[in-house]
Amino acid sequence: MDLLAKIVSLCKRRGFVFPTSEIYGGLSACYDFGPLGVELKNNIKSFWWKKIVQEHPEIYGLDSAIILHPKVWQASGHLSHFADELVECKKCHQRFRADELKEEKCPACGGELTTPRKFNTMFETHFGPVASKENIVYFRPETAQGIFINFKNIYQTQRAKMPFGIAQIGKAFRNEITVGNFIFRLREFEQMELEYFVPPQEADFFFEKWKKERKEWYLKLGIKEDHLRFREHSKEELAHYSKATVDIEYKFPWGWGEIEGIANRTDFDLTTHSKFSGEELSYLDPYTGKKYVPYVIEPSAGVERIFLALLCENYQEFPGGRKKAGKKSFNDKKEDSTEILLSLPWFLAPIKVAVLPLVRKEALIKIAKEIFEELIKYWPCVYDDKDSIGRRYRRQDEQGTPLAITVDFETLDDRKITVRNRDTMVQDRVAIKEIREYIRKKFDE
Ligand code: ATP
Repeated sequence: MDLLAKIVSLCKRRGFVFPTSEIYGGLSACYDFGPLGVELKNNIKSFWWKKIVQEHPEIYGLDSAIILHPKVWQASGHLSHFADELVECKKCHQRFRADELKEEKCPACGGELTTPRKFNTMFETHFGPVASKENIVYFRPETAQGIFINFKNIYQTQRAKMPFGIAQIGKAFRNEITVGNFIFRLREFEQMELEYFVPPQEADFFFEKWKKERKEWYLKLGIKEDHLRFREHSKEELAHYSKATVDIEYKFPWGWGEIEGIANRTDFDLTTHSKFSGEELSYLDPYTGKKYVPYVIEPSAGVERIFLALLCENYQEFPGGRKKAGKKSFNDKKEDSTEILLSLPWFLAPIKVAVLPLVRKEALIKIAKEIFEELIKYWPCVYDDKDSIGRRYRRQDEQGTPLAITVDFETLDDRKITVRNRDTMVQDRVAIKEIREYIRKKFDE
């Protein structure tokens, strides 16, 4: 099995990601995130928000509507430009993105293909009870436009001074022609976008600054430097609004794939919205008294692609089991069993602590539950008393839980518990009354 197939299987088995509407046969390129997936997603988003919004006093947060006035998409150029070239097989009627085809024949059946035509990838629906042409609205294909139309609101209410940014995390929808690679190309996904407004003459400087800052963010996620690269867009490839774009790509099991795009969108968006809306969307420099339309640098990342990159980066297999100082780690395991470790950085791990009574004896269960009830006030924890202790450790390793607490018979005498470290498998004996402090310190290390 290749790595991607193993990750898909782990995601399903442990409750990270499920194909949506599975009981009805699924809906392609749409997925549901299970209990562990939603925690991991939240941790990725929180880390972005912390680094972008919290640690930059000049960047303001926003949560705009998903369905915007249809004129937004007319002004932004999405109605006319947000299209891929589509070809259809005359024989089997499957459709493909023209730019992804390697040959002139249908990749599915070898049939003849139609000439390419433009296919707009925005999802549309009707607003209100009347399904007429006048009521067509669109599900946003990017979160960015919600930011541009709020430029004036934020600039004025926050008394923002240039350079300043507006950041937003939220759903985006694209009716992609071809999908695949699990959660890499979705029709519904989440973006984390920053629009950083700058004086036009400083745009190149800030473009470079954000490239650097964004790369550092990925390194802080624990992604290896040689699994990341910048790829500059050629002139032909540039989006209609962009003067320069660079993609941050991750080395996925099938090859390099974009996880984030950083673009110099110039003053395109504010100028066009100003023209279409009649509102003045410019900045008045309080020092020079000069008015101008700022340029904007946009780092735009996809949550699910980062999620997938993190799983690829941290999925580890140990045929025959993990070994500790020359010994097998668990005593109940068959010789040929393979152990899986999800070595996510601790701050990203969906569950931080597992609480496990050694065996299902009432006295041990009682103490374990007391500890669990106390710790869930501070960290996402699980309590588990099914199966042997070795299997339970393995389950936690597979889902990346950094610490596992075991309550054993000695606990009844010495009021101490064993804390096992996921990465080193070293076990510390810790007094129950000191456990909170112990965990806190471990996560600060
Ligand atoms: P691609 O070239 O892969 O279609 P894009 O260049 O159209 O992507 P952007 O418009 O730059 O993507 O969007 C910014 C980010 O949003 C991407 O880097 C990616 O992480 C995410 N993204 C875009 N389209 C999808 C999708 N269909 N599924 C999941 N994430 C996506």
